[in-house]
Amino acid sequence: MDVQPFLIDNTWVTGGGEPFVSSNPADGSELAMVGSADAADVDAAVGAAKRALENPAWRDLKPHERARLLHRIGELLDADSENLARLQMRDNGKTLRECRVLVAEAAASFRYFAAVCETFEGELPPPRGDNWPVTVYEPVGVVGAITPWNSPVTLEAQKLAPVLAAGNSIILKPSEVTPLIALEHARIALEAGLPPGVVNVVSGGGDVGRALVGHPGVDMISFTGGTKTGSAIAEEAGRLLKPVMLELGGKSPNIVFADADMAKAVKGAGNGIFSGGGQSCIAGSRIFVDETIMDEFVEGLRAFAQNYRIGPPEDEGTDTGPLASFAHRDRVEEFVEIGRGEGAKVLTGGARPADGVLAKGAYYPATILTGLDNSARICQEEIFGPVAVILPFKGEDDLIEQANDTVYGLAAGVWTSDYRRAWRVARAIRAGTIWINTYKQSAITSPFGGFKQSGLGREKGLQGMRAYMEPKAIYWSMD
Ligand code: NDP
Repeated sequence: MDVQPFLIDNTWVTGGGEPFVSSNPADGSELAMVGSADAADVDAAVGAAKRALENPAWRDLKPHERARLLHRIGELLDADSENLARLQMRDNGKTLRECRVLVAEAAASFRYFAAVCETFEGELPPPRGDNWPVTVYEPVGVVGAITPWNSPVTLEAQKLAPVLAAGNSIILKPSEVTPLIALEHARIALEAGLPPGVVNVVSGGGDVGRALVGHPGVDMISFTGGTKTGSAIAEEAGRLLKPVMLELGGKSPNIVFADADMAKAVKGAGNGIFSGGGQSCIAGSRIFVDETIMDEFVEGLRAFAQNYRIGPPEDEGTDTGPLASFAHRDRVEEFVEIGRGEGAKVLTGGARPADGVLAKGAYYPATILTGLDNSARICQEEIFGPVAVILPFKGEDDLIEQANDTVYGLAAGVWTSDYRRAWRVARAIRAGTIWINTYKQSAITSPFGGFKQSGLGREKGLQGMRAYMEPKAIYWSMD
């Protein structure tokens, strides 16, 4: 198998590291052999990215000219959407249906940030002396972007688009589990006509990420991934006084009050945890249910989970494909065993499929656990799989105390027909995103990120581009 190269300074290179295999979690087959960067490659990428910042072909572009390039990238993503969706499906196991939506979202991110770039303004604050102060926003510089495996096409676009819109250069390090989409992002950047060194992709494992974080030439790190890794990155970045944007893990509460529309709440809670195999930072993994409706809800969710079809990701009838890797499936399985050891009752799921096509892939069924309280390990630690824990609550105060009793603060859902209660609970939960009578909906226009150990900073929204810029105050004497 030929080694697939990555991109530095608009040149494809196979790198000085040991090439690695990317495989299809649906059947374990090898998809590609991918080149890996070593420290010298990271150094070369940083050099290229720094030169790009000084290159008039990039540095001197007016915002509307940068916006045109971003639109072009969006168009190229759209034009190749079916191939990209199939590639992501093969690399990480998400259903083809979901991958098509994700590619469209990635293209939309570029268009949105093109618009933000073109309309972004500086400020003229009122003077307080014989001068006129002007606030301008400048690119932060070379941005190191490190991404996880659960949704490469969108998560990578969510970094590339605002970083480029702000006039920076970028070095993207995708997860070793799903490296292939980042190579497509590199190809598209090249086709769109970005000058050398503006977009660089270095594939490889955690060491490549560490080399980026520790490199003195990288001005900022934007990371999406696990909280433990995020904390290690923040520590190193703190030592170097380097700004970081961190989008980390979650253990989000999805809350069902007694006055909720039961059918909608069951479906919303089910999709909130089982879609995408639960491999989502915002998965509603702790489902809190008013104790007075517990039996009815549990029966509803059990039926939902049992009808949730796992299967080959390209099949139209499949609700969820395999998990992204065999190693991750083993980890999810281990968590369910920890839950059992803690005394959980497994209502449905809880064992990998034993026969047929599914036995060859990294499949794991929708699983529901009950009988634990919120202090159990599986209620506190992120599983990142299709595993829901149902927890009872008694009244709003008890609910808020339990829902906030977590180190995470990424998202929450509230199901109720009382709009006053919805508002009270939405304000009392310490999390970056709250859904009321819906779950997992998102828009590139709204800020996204976490409270507490779910992260630092916000992606998306108007501020999403500003996050990659340095404000500068310039005073003009009027004396
Ligand atoms: P990891 O934290 O393990 O890895 C994320 C990325 O960091 C990968 O590219 C990884 O490389 C790299 N990496 C690993 N160690 C280091 C290090 N010390 N320094 C720099 N880079 C490093 O996360 P996963 O890939 O397992 O992704 C799952 C996690 O991502 C979950 O916790 C999930 O909640 C979180 N996530 C958060 C989102 C959010 O927006 N808040 C969205 C999606 C996911 P490699 O994989 O090659 O080892």
